[in-house]
Amino acid sequence: MKKLERWLRQKKLNPKRVYMAVLALLFVCIIVAASIALLTPNNDKVRLTEDAELRTGPNAAYPVLYKVEEGDTFKILSRSGKWIEVASTDHKQKGWIAGWHTNLDIKEDVDPNARPLKNKVIVLDPGHGGGDQGASSRTGKKTLEKDVTLKTSLELKKRLEKEGAIVKLTRKDDTYVKLKDRKATGDIFISIHNDALESADANGATVYWYHKNQEALANTLNASIQKKALLTDRGSRQENYQVLRQTKKPAVLLELGYISNPTDETLINDKNHRYIVESAIVDGLKNYFLYQ
Ligand SMILES: [Zn+2]
Repeated sequence: MKKLERWLRQKKLNPKRVYMAVLALLFVCIIVAASIALLTPNNDKVRLTEDAELRTGPNAAYPVLYKVEEGDTFKILSRSGKWIEVASTDHKQKGWIAGWHTNLDIKEDVDPNARPLKNKVIVLDPGHGGGDQGASSRTGKKTLEKDVTLKTSLELKKRLEKEGAIVKLTRKDDTYVKLKDRKATGDIFISIHNDALESADANGATVYWYHKNQEALANTLNASIQKKALLTDRGSRQENYQVLRQTKKPAVLLELGYISNPTDETLINDKNHRYIVESAIVDGLKNYFLYQ
């Protein structure tokens, strides 16, 4: 120490100042090292939560190099988006893996080519029928609810089948079906109706649900209908309807406009607007199955 102090004095340096500077430098180094340690994920390893493949690059379009198995552990080399470059501990296997197959908290990419409705069984229930005509108009158009609900359901059936869905109808023609028989085994149940009130002012679409497991479907469909259709938003509401109560599946009852309102009645009878509403229902169902 004495030698160092003598040497410093020879160099015209104040030993105290030099010690302080060295201490300050050490302090800064510690802070920097601690920050790096905190910001860098401390696990440089990744474990597979399911069987998967290592690919030559960071997306599913790259060729597969190896099949890898649930429980395998790899060293992380680098990352690109949701993909991770990994190497086996013996460095014999190296490649890219999708992050959602690992224990890292990475959500799966939604495949733009995915057909979320493929093989889903959708039960459509055209409201009323036969001697039960449902709501009727007060204008000269003489629109009957039972006719519009059947028309909408048959059009919607075609649209859903194009998406690969299997569609069941509770009625295919102008017949009366009891409420207790308005059910079928499927993934989703949709009852289709049009409202009516004494007052001609009431207008808009409402999406009803009853059981708690039906609420998410109702919210998704309501949002989708409101995004596209010209009907006023009456929201997604809980109501004790028999067709909803008697099923344990996600189910909704759609009131697609008021026949008693002249503006809504025009929309209900307009093929183009029905097409928009049906597209909105198809989109809503796709989103429901993609993100559930
Ligand atoms: Zn009805």
